[in-house]
Order: sequence, then C-alpha cells, then structure tokens
Amino acid sequence: MQIFEPYKLTGLKPNHLSFGGLDRGAELHEDKDCIQNLLGAEETLLVPVWRKLNLFSKIGGKGEKPLPVFLPVDEASSLISISGHKVFLGRQKNTIKTPAYLAIDVSAIDEEEAETSFAEWGSFNDLRNISPLIDGVEGSILAYARAMIYWHSQNQFCGICGNPTKPSKCGHQRDCVNSKCNSSHFPRTDSAVIMLVHDHDRLLLGRQKIWPKGMYSLLAGYVEPGETIEHAVAREVYEESGIIVRNIKYLHSQPWPFPSSLMLGFTAEAVTKKINYNDNEIEDAQWFTRGEIIEFKSQGKFLPRELSISRRLINDWLGLKH
Ligand SMILES: [Zn+2]
Repeated sequence: MQIFEPYKLTGLKPNHLSFGGLDRGAELHEDKDCIQNLLGAEETLLVPVWRKLNLFSKIGGKGEKPLPVFLPVDEASSLISISGHKVFLGRQKNTIKTPAYLAIDVSAIDEEEAETSFAEWGSFNDLRNISPLIDGVEGSILAYARAMIYWHSQNQFCGICGNPTKPSKCGHQRDCVNSKCNSSHFPRTDSAVIMLVHDHDRLLLGRQKIWPKGMYSLLAGYVEPGETIEHAVAREVYEESGIIVRNIKYLHSQPWPFPSSLMLGFTAEAVTKKINYNDNEIEDAQWFTRGEIIEFKSQGKFLPRELSISRRLINDWLGLKH
C-alpha cells in the first residue's frame, strides 16, 4: 500500500515532478554502512547525474520517446569507481521487487568520457527539456536525484569555518571535518510563491525580460526570512505590480529543483486594479480576460509550458482540462 499516494493526501492530482512514489526510508540513514550495503545489493538501481544532467535512453525512431535510465548495480559496476557523491533516494515498494534508488554523481569525467562510458545505455540531457515526454513518477525520481547531487556539489566546505565537509546519513547530511566546529549541514529547499491574481473576470499576467518573447505567466517570487507564505504572496504581487490582494488561498505545490526551489501555488483576489509595475523586476504586467488569453496565439503571446504549476493554475482558471 502506498500511504503517501497524492490522491489520498489531498484528493488532487499531483503536479509533474511532484511524486516519485518512493519510501524514503529515513531509518536507513542511521546505518553507517548504508551506501556500501546498497552498492552490494543486486536490487539497487543507480541514478547517474552528470553536471546537472540526467541519463535518458537514446531516441531511436521518429516519434520514439526517451526513457529515464536506472542502471542495475551489477550491470554498471564500472561506474562505481568513477562516481563521487552518492545518495540513497528511497525504495519503490509498490512493485514486486523493492528496488532501492541510489543517485551517483559522475561529474568528474569529461564530456567525451561521459558520452563513451554511457553510450550503451543512453545520453545525458536536461530534465527540464525531457520531462514533458516522460512519466511523472520516474521524472520525480530524476529531479530528486539531480537536486541532491547538486546540493552535495555546492556544500563541500563548511559555511561556518571553511573546512571540508564529508557526507553522512546515507547522503542526506554533510558534516564538518573540523572537530572544534562539528557543524552538520542539511539539504535545503528554497520556498517560492506563485500566484494566480484575479478580479473574478480578469487575470493578472506579467513577463520578465529574460523570458522568451511573447511569454506571459503568473507573478512569483521567493519567500523571505521572517514572513509567512501568505505575506510573501501579498508582498511580491505589490512589489511587482502595485496591486493589493486579499483572500489568499494555498492550492498545491511543485518541487522545482533547478536547482533547489519548491513552488507553492496560490490564488489571490485583487482589491485594487491599477497596475504600476516595477520595471526592475518585470517588463510588463496586464489584466487579461479569459477570451483574451484564449486568443493569445493570434497576438504572438503564449503561456508557460504545460506541466508547470503556473500553467495548471491558469488552465484551471480558464476552465480547461489538463
Ligand atoms: Zn566547520
């Protein structure tokens, strides 16, 4: 039985990359030999990460979709010697076998070696580009692996005393080697709010300068220390557009580990209508009716990619199925 199945928790369909179905097995983190034992267990599946990229099967014929590649440890033992950081991700319990997923960092090898060493299995690609083509559960495992390996790569030195850190807890912690400091460091997730601001008839959409020309999306921003997520919604909307909102409601979330965000999705009702956008933050902000959004294509405008939480919030408001 999958006790964390999203429908059971919220009654809502999970967002893409939001549910890998893994039992994260926190009890294993206490076992000092956890990684070594997993490398010796035949049911272990390796999840290679090379410089922020994940491994996908080579695309053969036209229309053929790439598949995430999880490598049985006995078939890929040659990779162990070239791998750096290793992280136990969890076990898949709703299958006949209960494979353990072990993320391994193979970033130390150069581009040519990454191509030749993995040629028999596939090639490395950016999950953001491939994810619309793959199963959301498998994509979530890849996203989790990418996030954890990235965190290790960015935390090899102690932020308190500057000495090196070493991994512990099955790859879920790093400890400072300086016994006088003895600090522990943990993987972090940066909370970001994304909000569908409406006045019942119209939706507030904006665009950032760095986005592709014509793309409009919801306003969003990071939660700051010392504020609630609802306060962050109201502050970000006001800072970016000059609009004051009320009746803020949290709906659902989407991990966005590119590199380490968690997007928290809200709706908010506008109580002022006059837009006064901050051009340091965004390039444009406008109110759009449902009809105007449906006609975006004819005006050279478009919405964010399918499977993003922003698109889901917009589609739900438009009354579109997804
Ligand atoms: Zn330290």
